[in-house]
Amino acid sequence: MFLSDNAFTVSSNLKRFSTTLVLPPRPAPRSLLLRLPRLRRLVSLKKMPKVKTNRVKYPQGWELIEPTLRQLDAQMREAEMDTHDGKRKCETLWPIFKVSHQRSRYVYELYYRREEISKELYEFCLDQGYADRSLIAKWKKSGYERLCCLRCIQPRDHNYGTTCVCRVPKKLREEKAVECVHCGCQGCASGD
Ligand SMILES: [Zn+2]
Ligand SMILES: [Zn+2]
Repeated sequence: MFLSDNAFTVSSNLKRFSTTLVLPPRPAPRSLLLRLPRLRRLVSLKKMPKVKTNRVKYPQGWELIEPTLRQLDAQMREAEMDTHDGKRKCETLWPIFKVSHQRSRYVYELYYRREEISKELYEFCLDQGYADRSLIAKWKKSGYERLCCLRCIQPRDHNYGTTCVCRVPKKLREEKAVECVHCGCQGCASGD
């Protein structure tokens, strides 16, 4: 019993070894996020903004917000293609989180604060992936109005099951300047 188990392990290890040798070098990954499924989910890139086609019906007012959204799209592509030269590993994702935040914030402000777009256009932006529905849902809750990203409130991502340092109000933390490892947030507690 044990012998055959071992034999199996050895032969499968050998097999894996020989496969590694035969395989051609893997092509460079298109984007860092594509290698990190959970992060991709957190910044809601699952639903990337769709390409404009004739089949999509654009609600009224779209032409007014399109230039800004296109600009943010371009910034997102730039962030994804960044070469990460001289950056710490954690820093490479910060620009992506930043643009993702900006994009959601833009749509959120237009609808909830400035009341400049219709519900139809707002929903359209969410459906098309221009804003993160779950992040916006947090902004509507008291205490989360300025939340940077969903990752910073995931207990499993932090020591001792707490939240990120950026969530601690300025007056309660010792260091006045912080920059969290997850998204580079410098503090997003309400009232900071
Ligand atoms: Zn934060
Ligand atoms: Zn944080």
